[in-house]
Amino acid sequence: TASKLVNDIKAIVDQPAEEKSLNLVFNVEGDLQIHADYYRLYQLALNLISNSIQYTNEGGDITLTIEKDGDNVLIEVQDNGIGIAEKFHNRIFERFYRVDKARSRHSGGTGLGLSIVRHITEAHDGQIQIESREEEGTTIKVTLPQK
Ligand code: ATP
Ligand code: MG
Repeated sequence: TASKLVNDIKAIVDQPAEEKSLNLVFNVEGDLQIHADYYRLYQLALNLISNSIQYTNEGGDITLTIEKDGDNVLIEVQDNGIGIAEKFHNRIFERFYRVDKARSRHSGGTGLGLSIVRHITEAHDGQIQIESREEEGTTIKVTLPQK
């Protein structure tokens, strides 16, 4: 269920979020059943939320929403972090692609997170949408058919 997913994610991200004084909000239909491989969904949500933690400045807000949307399940991660310029919106889902190489070299990571998100979404016949503006923030929505 969605509530197990959220509890598992909270256990991992609470501390890094607290270290940056980020305000994490979970907006989840707890008893929602998602018919998908649990570990892959966990990886998907964790990759998105880890990016929001990494690319949002101190004191920012991050919201994870998991809800039913017609015959689909919507998994949405929203932040008010550094954002991504429009010209990179397609490229960031490529393997090893990172927007600012000089900056991100210092922040660890390999540029694989979003390519994994895309791979998992496609394996479940789902879709990804991104809305992001530099200096304003990023919202990534993954829709998976509920089956
Ligand atoms: P890894 O996930 O492997 O640790 P990464 O975070 O750099 O490394 P991806 O998760 O694939 O790699 O993200 C690709 C790039 O997209 C990032 O380097 C960053 O430039 C940009 N990006 C991803 N999510 C966000 C976000 N929420 N806000 C701003 N930029 C983002
Ligand atoms: Mg990442």
